[in-house]
Amino acid sequence: MLLGGRVVESGGAARRADVLVSERGRIERIAEDIEAPSGIERIDVSGALISPGFVDAHQHLDKTGVLRFAPNPSGTLQGAREAFAVYARNAPPEDITRRAARTMSRCLRRGTTAIRSHINIDKDAGFNGINALAALRQEWSDRLTLQLVAFMTPHPNQDLDWLEENIDAAVENADAVGGTPAVAEDPLRYMDILFEAAVRHGRPLDFHLDEHLDTSRPLFDAVFERVRKYGMQGRTVLSHCSVLSALPRSDYERIRDEMLELDLGVVTLPAANLYLQGRAHDVLPPRGLTRVADLVRSGVPVATASDNIQDPFVPTGSGDMLEIARWTLLAGHLYASEFPAVYSMITDIPAQLMGLEGYGLKEGSWADMVVTDCEDVDTLVAGGPDRVQVLARGRPVFVDENETAEAEGRMIEKVS
Ligand SMILES: [Zn+2]
Repeated sequence: MLLGGRVVESGGAARRADVLVSERGRIERIAEDIEAPSGIERIDVSGALISPGFVDAHQHLDKTGVLRFAPNPSGTLQGAREAFAVYARNAPPEDITRRAARTMSRCLRRGTTAIRSHINIDKDAGFNGINALAALRQEWSDRLTLQLVAFMTPHPNQDLDWLEENIDAAVENADAVGGTPAVAEDPLRYMDILFEAAVRHGRPLDFHLDEHLDTSRPLFDAVFERVRKYGMQGRTVLSHCSVLSALPRSDYERIRDEMLELDLGVVTLPAANLYLQGRAHDVLPPRGLTRVADLVRSGVPVATASDNIQDPFVPTGSGDMLEIARWTLLAGHLYASEFPAVYSMITDIPAQLMGLEGYGLKEGSWADMVVTDCEDVDTLVAGGPDRVQVLARGRPVFVDENETAEAEGRMIEKVS
């Protein structure tokens, strides 16, 4: 049981309460001054801010850490895709497991307790990535919720027949169906393959949609038409949507209204967009992100996420969702008054878009918690904590060094 913390509720406000956790790692009760049942471990977190675990709605764990084996000299999206394709042809499955586990561990230590990862399935990568990650999903299920997206990449030989033949086996092992229509030679046929597989297997969709700034070829209308046709309202997430920031406001507003009507979610990925987009501009290079502030203020559910971590797509990254939240605020031109909205983009909203069961600090939910010395969610996002402890399913999985080094004034103390 956690005593005396300040529990962050949906919306970002915090209230003082004790948290009683069951044997199975669920939150049994949240209330002031709970009488601890006898024999239960009590942890004093007086004054600490208790947030639900952070949620990273978009990563690529099959690619993480491959930068040195797959350099991308051009720094462009196409350069990154080609570099990874060459690497994927020869990648030993045990390497994928080792690299992915390392990044998962780093994310968990930084407070992320759920990740959705896209995993390439194509003629280069085959099923190596999804098989390796499916094993990790099982192995880590007591501390990290891992969702896998069968990322059917039309790359580089554009063999849609291969994708069509293999999609059922791929989706069988996945939690969602994904793809990147803008780089398919026949985007409409490609999208039909993905939508039909999603319906056949009862899985949600998560597209890399229009990760470019070319206003001559947005694919939103083709997606909307298929969401209606296949009944995928509320079960379709659009990642990137970069081109929205290049389109005139009137076009954007029409697309936004359709998103709201069809109950679609958006995931913005500032690291990849800032790094990969706009390299052809000699002056005033664009930021490359979608219209983050406009979408957030209009009520479209927008999550923000890591995307790639130390690979040819994004050479940096630590798995720290607070860092991603800061970039989202800065590059997305949100206001300082919108810290709580940005906080939602790494907690409630991605949990909702991923359909996570038992998320959030409420009775019956999983006791996945980030306990920090921050005053409120504004300061948590703005500068991060000096001291942090992460609990997954009620068990401490990370206590930072400051925590153990400081005998006096410890934020989190075991009472009995
Ligand atoms: Zn991605």
